[in-house]
Amino acid sequence: MADEMGLGKTLQCIALMWTLLRQSPDCKPEIDKAVVVCPSSLVKNWYHEVGKWLQGRIQPLAIDGGSKEAIDQKLAGFMQQRGLRVPSPILIISYETFRLHADVLHQGLVGLVICDEGHRLKNSENQTYQALSRLQTVRRVLISGTPIQNDLLEYFSLVHFVSAGILGTAQDFKKRFEIPILKGRDADASPANRERGEEKLKELISLVNRCLIRRTSDILSKYLPVKIEQVVCCRLTPLQSELYKRFLKQVKPAEELTSGRISVSSLSSITALKKLCNHPALIHDKCVEDADGFQGALSFFPPGYNTKSVEPQLSGKMLVLDYILAMTRSTSSDKVVLVSNYTQTLDLFEKLCRVRRYLFVRLDGTMSIKKRAKIVERFNSPTSPDFIFMLSSKAGGCGLNLIGANRLVMFDPDWNPANDEQAMARVWRDGQKRTCFIYRLLSTGTIEEKIFQRQTHKKALSSCVVDEEQDVERHFSSGELRELFTLTEDTASDTHDRFKCRRCVNGHQVRPPPAGTDCTSDLSQWHHCAEKRGLQDPVLAAAWDAAVTFTFHQRSHDEQRGIV
Ligand code: ZN
Repeated sequence: MADEMGLGKTLQCIALMWTLLRQSPDCKPEIDKAVVVCPSSLVKNWYHEVGKWLQGRIQPLAIDGGSKEAIDQKLAGFMQQRGLRVPSPILIISYETFRLHADVLHQGLVGLVICDEGHRLKNSENQTYQALSRLQTVRRVLISGTPIQNDLLEYFSLVHFVSAGILGTAQDFKKRFEIPILKGRDADASPANRERGEEKLKELISLVNRCLIRRTSDILSKYLPVKIEQVVCCRLTPLQSELYKRFLKQVKPAEELTSGRISVSSLSSITALKKLCNHPALIHDKCVEDADGFQGALSFFPPGYNTKSVEPQLSGKMLVLDYILAMTRSTSSDKVVLVSNYTQTLDLFEKLCRVRRYLFVRLDGTMSIKKRAKIVERFNSPTSPDFIFMLSSKAGGCGLNLIGANRLVMFDPDWNPANDEQAMARVWRDGQKRTCFIYRLLSTGTIEEKIFQRQTHKKALSSCVVDEEQDVERHFSSGELRELFTLTEDTASDTHDRFKCRRCVNGHQVRPPPAGTDCTSDLSQWHHCAEKRGLQDPVLAAAWDAAVTFTFHQRSHDEQRGIV
């Protein structure tokens, strides 16, 4: 049983024990005893879980220290029990203790053995494996939340433990699977060998799947409230557009990319353009310095401009955000999480909140864990007056639970899709009761759309966090990099243009997405909206005229599916 964390592996195993001990298919016990083997740190935990779920109906025997004689005696007592209703039918014991007292446990039959953290049995040569193998039991469950590693022999050991024979002996396995699969994977493998390797791997997987179950936390999503995800393209303001074009003209970042490798200067070009997309205030200092790319650009700013005020109308995305917040505030009691890659952008959010008198909290990467927990708890409390939670996408991290909010705005796209996924999971998670709205803002036709396009293609690829520079280099060919630096004007959405979409005619969606599509479907299969009429979210509809040019939206699932 290789289910992901949080799907209740322990409960399922307890239910299995109870069923076999008390009420098998023909309503009489199928087994009289079960053994749970686990790391010593989990013995107490298993004891409590059995107590919690079976509510004292079964009194398990947990071996947790004691002299050798005392343990031997207890185990002998356990093994001697036989019959329909033995007093203490579940033994919970650590791997170490099991190994040391295996002789006693080998005296007689046991109906079921469950090995928690079962990847400890990846080596069939070690003593613990040997001791457990010799236990006289035909029903064997091995629990592991750790995905099985790529080592084929480890695979063999684990499968062999629960289902001896389905993969043959170790020698058979080596000859039949390991050698051809490894040969096929060799960099110099002939096409024939490669094909044979693939075939053997498929065969192995289908054999193993007869005794392996692996479910991911995706299956929980249908028990959550509906999530409406919206990718919102926002028009650059005339100021942003002027600055953007001047930068491209002065720096010519596309021409820098001679070797196809990304240089320091193109990285700083990317940063400059991304900041400009967020708000011209973020590059104002460069204009004041007359820095490369922004020479003479100060004159584009309105007369008397200074960065002390927030001026949302100077950035398309900021203006849309301002509307989204105002509409949410005035039409609901919803709270909002704001996410950005840049702390400078979070500073702008703070200014906006002050001007609009929104109460907010901000999570900082430097905060102690204790302080973080306090802030999160305060925000999630229904009585808290805080309206907004600000988060840097890097500081976001796993585990942060912000279910007090049900709307989340991702103000800029991250290179790494995993970071954006992480951010969305802060609100749409276990415990959330309201419909969730996700807004992913992109500046139309700019580098942000290109980053986003890249992201959706590579969704499956990068689950690990890599630093920005490596990521850019790995994910883009030189041609694609050049494309990063082209501004596509006169479009409602560069991303939609690229689909050559047949469901839309003259900017109107004439055919709905195919049945069964959801937020995990390709963006080309989402709802395509070039006007506010097609939206499902009244808040976004009210913000449309601010600067929205196009929206992709999709639902996670239909409401009814949530009812069990
Ligand atoms: Zn379309």
